[in-house]
Amino acid sequence: MRVPGTPQQNSPGVLKAPRVKMSEATWHKLMAYVIAVGPLEINGFGYVRLTPEDTVWLDRDGAIWIDDVFIIGQLVTAASANTDKAALDAHIASMVQGGTPMEALRFQWHSHVDADAYCSGTDTDSIDQWPGHWLISLVTNKRGERYVRFDTFTGGVRVGVEIELEIVAVTAIPSYVMDGAREEIAALVRQPQRRRPLRRRASEIPVVPTDASGILVTDVSSRPILATDPRPAEVPYEE
Ligand SMILES: [Zn+2]
Repeated sequence: MRVPGTPQQNSPGVLKAPRVKMSEATWHKLMAYVIAVGPLEINGFGYVRLTPEDTVWLDRDGAIWIDDVFIIGQLVTAASANTDKAALDAHIASMVQGGTPMEALRFQWHSHVDADAYCSGTDTDSIDQWPGHWLISLVTNKRGERYVRFDTFTGGVRVGVEIELEIVAVTAIPSYVMDGAREEIAALVRQPQRRRPLRRRASEIPVVPTDASGILVTDVSSRPILATDPRPAEVPYEE
C-alpha cells in the first residue's frame, strides 16, 4: 500500500484542494443518519474509492469519490458526538481483515443538528487526532448544509483547506461497478463443459424392433432402396 501524503502518479491534486464527489444515494444515506438520530449530533465515517492497487481512484475530473458512509458506536448529546475509540479500533481491524485497506478510510463527518454547518475548535481538535496522513471532513446539519475541508498532516503539522463536496446523481451503472462485477464473474462463475458426443435422452434413442424371442427383426421395406442407379438418365445432346 502506498503512503498517502506523498505525490502519486495517479492522484495529482490529492495534496491541494482536491475535488470530492459523492453519489446522491450515498448523500441520502448520510442524511438519513442525521435525521433518524433525532435532536442529537451524530458522527460517522466513509470510504473513498480505491484502485485495484489500493491507491486513491480519481475520475476524469481528477475527483476523489466517497462511496459509502457508516456509523460506529458513539456517545452523543445535542451538542457533541464522541466516537467510541474501542469501537473504531474494532471496526478498522475487521475492515482490514475483510480486505478493505486503511487507505479507503479517509472521510469523517458529523452533524450539528439544527446549528450552522461550520468547523468548531472541537472539530479541528478531533481532526488533529486522525491517525492517517490526510482526511476529508464534513460538518452538516438537518437542513443538509455542508462545510467540507481537506487536511493533510506532514511532520505533525496540519494544513487544511475548505473544499466543495459535489453531490452527483448517478443514472447509469458506474464503470467501476461493471469492472468489479466482471472480475467477480471471471473468478467465480463457470459454465458446464460440453460433452462430445452429447448424451442422448432415452426418448431420442431409436427403438430397434425385435420379436418375442428378442431376435432382431429386419424390416426390409423401411430400408432405403440402394439398387436404383442414382445417376440421372442421360439427356440427349441436341444439335
Ligand atoms: Zn462540530
